[in-house]
Amino acid sequence: MASIFTQIVQGEIPCEKIFETDEEIAFLDIMPSAKGHTLVIPKLEVIKLEELPESLAISLMRTLQTVATAVSKAFDGIDYNLILNNGENAGQVVEHLHFHILPREKDSPAPFRNKIKYAEQEMQEVGARIRNYL
Ligand code: AMP
Repeated sequence: MASIFTQIVQGEIPCEKIFETDEEIAFLDIMPSAKGHTLVIPKLEVIKLEELPESLAISLMRTLQTVATAVSKAFDGIDYNLILNNGENAGQVVEHLHFHILPREKDSPAPFRNKIKYAEQEMQEVGARIRNYL
């Protein structure tokens, strides 16, 4: 069965899309640890980084840089973690390779230690704010 992220790629599950190329898609995390928490995935469904063909890994890194820059600019140049949970023991829950772009302020909790909730319409507003910097 297709991963939940492949279902997003195929448009079967909605997402707050930030950016898309032929090879990647970026969208807001639905259970974010911070406002602007964004996931960047290759459209090709692989579980781990080492399974991704090198040309797609290079393409993914290019897209990561583009999207992470926009996320940061959307929040006044905020710092961020770029996180890959590569395998179950590393905390990977969704078995489809994905990088987290996780905005961090001075006193932010360690990654994944907290969850926040967007107010109504706020997720769409955050998405628009980030897309504005692409
Ligand atoms: P990981 O623990 O690295 O596998 O993280 C998976 C992430 O995917 C979690 O932060 C989830 O909140 C996020 N997630 C799961 N389903 C969706 C979805 N349908 N749309 C957006 N993010 C999702």
